[in-house]
Amino acid sequence: MDNCIFCKIAAGEIPSNKVYEDDKILAFRDIEPQAPVHVVIIPKQHVAGSMNEITAENAEIVSHIFCCIPKIAAELKLDGGYRLVCNCGPDAGQTVRHLHFHILGGKTLGAMA
Ligand code: AMP
Ligand code: ZN
Repeated sequence: MDNCIFCKIAAGEIPSNKVYEDDKILAFRDIEPQAPVHVVIIPKQHVAGSMNEITAENAEIVSHIFCCIPKIAAELKLDGGYRLVCNCGPDAGQTVRHLHFHILGGKTLGAMA
């Protein structure tokens, strides 16, 4: 999709610090980390702007992302655990309208808002 920063990262038009990649998804370090380990996981295709656009027809990518999260967390050595975050919409502070999930960890995280 035009003017989507995560589509540009997926296409290699904007550089990213990759931690995992396969044919369907990409995981890279967040440019403004909110924890010692902060990784963003995106589908390479712009399947949805947010979780609100997930349907029975396109949910397979969410399943694939969730199946990859344990191995990404293991590669990141998040042995003490981690938090998975999906900001959906303005009240959640979503800034990029390309479906994505955050993995946060590397310390004992505070309580959620
Ligand atoms: P959200 O607020 O859930 O929409 O998350 C978007 C995230 O993308 C934010 O945490 C940003 O710091 C991150 N971000 C934006 N641009 C880049 C970039 N070029 N490389 C890595 N992370 C980015
Ligand atoms: Zn996109």
